Parts: sequence; C-alpha cells; structure tokens
Amino acid sequence: MSTPHTVNDVTTAPTQATDPSIVLSLSDITFSYSNNTNILRDISLDFPNGSWSAIMGPSGSGKSTLLYCASGLLSPQHGHVICGTTDITTLKGNDLTTFRREHFGFVFQNYNLLPELTATQNVLLPSMFGSHALPEQDARRALADVGLNQYADRYPEDLSGGQRQRVAIARGLALHPDILFADEPTGALDSKTTREVMDLFRMASDRKQTVIMVTHDPNVAACADQVIFLVDGSVVGIHRGMTAADIALAFSTGNFASTPSTTEDAQ
Ligand code: ADP
Repeated sequence: MSTPHTVNDVTTAPTQATDPSIVLSLSDITFSYSNNTNILRDISLDFPNGSWSAIMGPSGSGKSTLLYCASGLLSPQHGHVICGTTDITTLKGNDLTTFRREHFGFVFQNYNLLPELTATQNVLLPSMFGSHALPEQDARRALADVGLNQYADRYPEDLSGGQRQRVAIARGLALHPDILFADEPTGALDSKTTREVMDLFRMASDRKQTVIMVTHDPNVAACADQVIFLVDGSVVGIHRGMTAADIALAFSTGNFASTPSTTEDAQ
C-alpha cells in the first residue's frame, strides 16, 4: 500500500477511514479505460473536512479521471474511495447514485444546465430524483447565496456565462453536499467572473464544505489551499500556499516536487 498524502496538513500515518477530520480518503487507486493502459497509478490521498484542493498537471495526466474516480462517477479497478465511513467503491447502481446525490455536488466547465428550465428549476432538478425534493424557497435561497436572486426565473439562454456557472454552483451546493467536485469550472469564463466563482468556492470552504477542483489555470489554482500535481497518473507533489507564479514556474521547469513556497512535498 502506498503512503497516503494528507492534503492540508503534514503527511500522516496511513489512512484511518474513521478519522472524522478526513472527509474523503483515496487509497491505492488504479484506473484504466478499456485499452488497459493505467491512467491512474496507485494514488493515495486524504482530504480533510473543509479543505480546498486544486488538481493540476499536464494535459492528459489524468486529472479529470482522478476527479471522476474520487466522486464515484468512475469505478477504479483497484483501490478504495472512502467518504466518511462509506467505501463508495463497494456501492453500485441506485445506492451509488443516491450516495452521490446526498453527499457530493458537481460543477462542470460547460455548466450542464437544461435550457428549457429556469434557474430555479435547474437548481431543483437533482433533488427531484431523490426521496426529498428541495423546497422551491431553498432553491431560491441557493441562488441568492450566489448573487442571483434577480435571475431566479430566467432561462439559461438569458444569462451570461458567469451567471450560468453561478446557477450551476447554486445547484451543486443547494443540497449542502460534503464535497463540491469541480472540473475546469472557470475554463469558459473571463478573469473577473473567474474571481467571482473563486469567491463562491471560498464561501463553501469557509462553511466547511470540501472543494476539489481540476484546473489548468495557475491563477485559479493559487486560490485553493493546496495544489496537487499529477504527472502520468501519479501524484508528484502537494504544496500549500503556492502563488500563481510558483505554479507557472513548476510547469515551465517540470519540477512539481519542490517549489519556492512549499510547505509539503509528496513522497
Ligand atoms: P486530464 O484531465 O489531465 O487532461 P484525463 O483524465 O481527461 O486527463 O485523461 C487522461 C488520459 O485518459 C488521456 O490520455 C485521455 O486521452 C484518456 N481518456 C480520457 N477519457 C477516456 C475515455 N473515455 N476512454 C479512453 N481514454 C480516455
């Protein structure tokens, strides 16, 4: 078993699934698509409650695949993903879908809003597949939280890209998930709107929701508490307090293991 990297803290003893400060624990994750080439190799990571992590690395290094394995959208061939006390790699079908809906929120680069539904209806939609539909006033409150109370009855086509992403974030946070997973959430946004989206992620993290996001943008990654670098499907560095310049330097030199302002290196 590989030694887990504990994000947001110094590296600790092997994963304790029952450690209440760890909301998500990945151990020895190996994943391959149908061609059998390993995309993820033996990844072990612990994510403490309320931490905000950016996953970075060269294109094709496996960042999105890691996010999907961590969130139960993909099933690794080997290893375990433990959320709280539940090993989600053992869940199948409806049980897995229900667990994801109750504990995880998702934000994607292209928003994934249904065009024929209003902002409020888009926020309500995920809960309609569960046993407890979200009351409409809660959906409106989630939209107000992201500054969209004036836009609750608008359709996606009447909203800007930034407003659409805020609807998607309201949807992702409306059911109060333990973890918000975001795949390139600012990939289609300008820099001002990107900063607004980062403020919303900070708000979630301050509320003790854990944020795990994939990004290729050093300015975005520098907003997170820590950056996890992935190369060829392996974690090669975890660093806290990186600036955008540190991150850009790591990419230009290919040195992801140690950088000027790091407090922790992957082992
Ligand atoms: P990143 O997010 O770092 O760009 P990905 O996780 O998207 O990397 O992809 C990692 C590797 O897996 C790439 O080589 C990509 O081509 C391959 N890949 C991604 N999705 C699939 C898929 N559905 N089927 C086969 N290969 C895939």
